[in-house]
Amino acid sequence: MGPGIEVGQVPRAALPINPAFQWSVGNWMDHFYDGLKEGKLLASKCPGCARVYLPPRMICERCFTKCEEWVELPETGTVESYTVAHVKVGANGEFEELPQPEVIALVKQDGADTCVAARLQGGSASVGMKVKVVIDPEAESFVNMLAGYRPAE
Ligand SMILES: [Zn+2]
Repeated sequence: MGPGIEVGQVPRAALPINPAFQWSVGNWMDHFYDGLKEGKLLASKCPGCARVYLPPRMICERCFTKCEEWVELPETGTVESYTVAHVKVGANGEFEELPQPEVIALVKQDGADTCVAARLQGGSASVGMKVKVVIDPEAESFVNMLAGYRPAE
């Protein structure tokens, strides 16, 4: 128990709690975002088993080798799964209704062995649908540089 709290008392905090974070994405994600700034989609590749990771990973989940190779992937990929979001988490940590539902797709980029979750433009999706990545190097926040996907045709 902290100072000023009696035994049997339950400490309480008002919600929502809005902590301010300042964090590093690490060397691997830095390299990934540097690629996006140049309009390139970079994936890390395991020199041990040749598995290609997008988003990039530092250590291979299969053989625990350091993924020190980088490959540039083409802009095309395939929708492996998707969901439709009707709300988002707002600036105050509360759910906010979206003006229009958004499709969030799990996309396997051509040449990658893993999937990335991102917004899919166009309002509809299907498993197996071919898509193209949308990169916005000018995005206000680096996390939005991978702006999402759009239908390939
Ligand atoms: Zn490996």
